[in-house]
Amino acid sequence: MPQKSITVALAGNPNSGKSTIFNNLTGTRQKVGNWPGVTVEKKEGHLKANGYDLTVVDLPGTYSLTAYSIEEVVARNFILDEKPDVVVDIIDASNLERNLYLATQLRELDTKVIFVLNMADVARERGVKIDADKLSELLDVPVVFTVGNKNTGTRQLLETIISVAKSEVELPRTRRVYYGKDIEKAIHELSELIEEKAGSKLPYNIRWVAIKLLENDRIVKERVRQFTNPHGEAILQEAELKRQGLREFFDEEPEIVMTDHRYGFIAGILKEVLKTVSERRVDISRQIDQVLTNRLLGLPIFVFFIWAMFQLTFSLGAYPTGWIDAGVGWLGQTVGGILPDGLFRDLIVDGVIAGVGSVVIFLPNILILFFCIALFEDTGYMARAAFLMDKVMHLIGLHGKSFISLLMGFGCNAPAIMATRTLESEKDRILTILINPLMSCSARLPVYILLAGTFFGAKAGNAIFSIYALGIVLAIALGRLFRFTLFKGEVAPFVMELPPYRLPTFKGLLIHMWDRSKIFLKKMGGVILIGSVIVWSLSAFPRQVQFSKDYETEAAQIRAQYGASIAAAKGDDLERLSRERDKAISTLETVQAREKIEKSYIGRIGKVLAPMFAPIGMDWRGSVAVLTGFVAKEIVVSTMGVLYAAGADEDEKSEALKVALKKSDMTPLSAYAMMAFVLIYVPCVATVAAIRRETNSWKWTAFSITYSTILAWLVAFVIYQGGKAIGLA
Ligand code: GDP
Ligand code: MG
Repeated sequence: MPQKSITVALAGNPNSGKSTIFNNLTGTRQKVGNWPGVTVEKKEGHLKANGYDLTVVDLPGTYSLTAYSIEEVVARNFILDEKPDVVVDIIDASNLERNLYLATQLRELDTKVIFVLNMADVARERGVKIDADKLSELLDVPVVFTVGNKNTGTRQLLETIISVAKSEVELPRTRRVYYGKDIEKAIHELSELIEEKAGSKLPYNIRWVAIKLLENDRIVKERVRQFTNPHGEAILQEAELKRQGLREFFDEEPEIVMTDHRYGFIAGILKEVLKTVSERRVDISRQIDQVLTNRLLGLPIFVFFIWAMFQLTFSLGAYPTGWIDAGVGWLGQTVGGILPDGLFRDLIVDGVIAGVGSVVIFLPNILILFFCIALFEDTGYMARAAFLMDKVMHLIGLHGKSFISLLMGFGCNAPAIMATRTLESEKDRILTILINPLMSCSARLPVYILLAGTFFGAKAGNAIFSIYALGIVLAIALGRLFRFTLFKGEVAPFVMELPPYRLPTFKGLLIHMWDRSKIFLKKMGGVILIGSVIVWSLSAFPRQVQFSKDYETEAAQIRAQYGASIAAAKGDDLERLSRERDKAISTLETVQAREKIEKSYIGRIGKVLAPMFAPIGMDWRGSVAVLTGFVAKEIVVSTMGVLYAAGADEDEKSEALKVALKKSDMTPLSAYAMMAFVLIYVPCVATVAAIRRETNSWKWTAFSITYSTILAWLVAFVIYQGGKAIGLA
């Protein structure tokens, strides 16, 4: 049954024309008094329309909904306690930015809202053009234009009020301010606590209560105490703890940071809905933005930053990598010296230390990469990147919000895929999930660094950058293809937040860097350790193989050959001959070790795979390496370590591997084809599991595995065969 009486509250900034609209709506039927207990004027009026009885209340004018002034408290309490059917926010259209602050706060309450863009005439005079449809779409709120003092738009406002009040639509919760990872986490945890302790007792939106507690809102604190007895104190204590944590983290009061985010959200809206901007306050953030989000310069600058990031990751990372490498080599030798010869020694030295060691040396590179990403995020530049990419994303029929998930993919695809949960449309989600693995995750970086470092010398940074770029280009191309074939449909609108630039705290940067790097370290002790042991076992068994020749005898022959001449030689000659003999024996040992591995289980698997990989320039060892990479992409490197560097006796394992790679059939061209293959082919187990979970479909999971592997092969084929055809090696 439709309700027959409707209560409407008019909210808005002082001088936005509230009283004028109020008069337009109610005519002369109004009652003036004071709000209970305070000397703030309360006006209430009545009217009848379309068979409904409307009560209109003119709330005190406010800029915000905090608890700083009597007016704000009165206005907020009315909305919270009296629960009007509709809140109409009167917005001075000629001063959109300031007025939207209240508007975004109203959107956080569980109340139906209508935006009235009043002073439409003044806005027009000032050359401000507002895209009302866009605004309405972005915030999911009906928008009506009025000119209060000419009484235009009143009828339409009335119709909108009635239809919104009647409608039973659930309030969309998604178009709201996003307060950044750390604050959102605090909000989420606090909300869960409130929900658990007192969910049913609080008559307010729980997220809003959590936000207000983090802002230290005294009235909300009082209410929580009052409504959630006996848990009130526990909730408030937790809120205070979280506030302290945030304060330390940001070096600033949480409410200030949150205000910044609201303005960021508003800046994002303005950027989309304001057509002509003639009278805008120019502050520092905006001046920076005029360059960084410039239509022509923005994208090249962004590309430059990313390029610089990879240069830094590669060149700066090389120093500590050398130290760790030496450390790993020393550890292997020391442990090898202590343990008695045998299977167990081989397992520890060749399986565990060499396997995990070959991956752990990339920790510095990964720390640098994550430090740069934290720097982009904490300064506010990442939001600009998402904003810039929003246009590019529209090419694929996605928006900037998907880009955030894609960006996270540079760290690790599994959590990035989980992050698509925030996307409203199912189609957008699946599409974003499908192209996410093309964002080259940090686990693939060691493979690139190894191959590029071996084959591209000083140009390694550029080679790696081009692989990342290839991933992005492919993501766009495939996204477009999928969008126009598998997922036809509209794009849901979304506000790209543009928070003010801020100087990040060093502590904050370190925490963010560490949060991500932890995952890498955890994998070391888990999946990479196990994977390395499995790869080693497959290469160490069967223990006895049928060798093609008798190496023992041959070694004895070499010794015998040199034996006589060494006995006769003196001085320099003696030294030269001994060296020659040692070299001959070690070459023989390497050949034997190679043969042993070729005849091990892993070698047999490799020989089966090899024909499939030959056209893209990979031998059986590379084939096995990418196969094991399904467990975790870092394992590609440790497998290559086992297979290529077998029998090598350099102290530093990674140097041995590079030398062995250079000596193998691999060329810069085939190395590059392999890098491309590793970029594109089937994502690792953890990512596949995330895809399965988030799409809730085996069909899409299978599709993702298949398309990526086929595409990887095709791209590598084009690179390798194409490169050969034009004479590259
Ligand atoms: P309140 O403080 O929000 O209640 O604002 P008022 O309703 O008192 O309006 C403030 C001033 O703006 C008054 O002089 C109104 O006549 C004027 N005003 C209201 N709406 C409009 C409008 O759409 N265009 C113009 N030019 N003036 C308006
Ligand atoms: Mg007034």
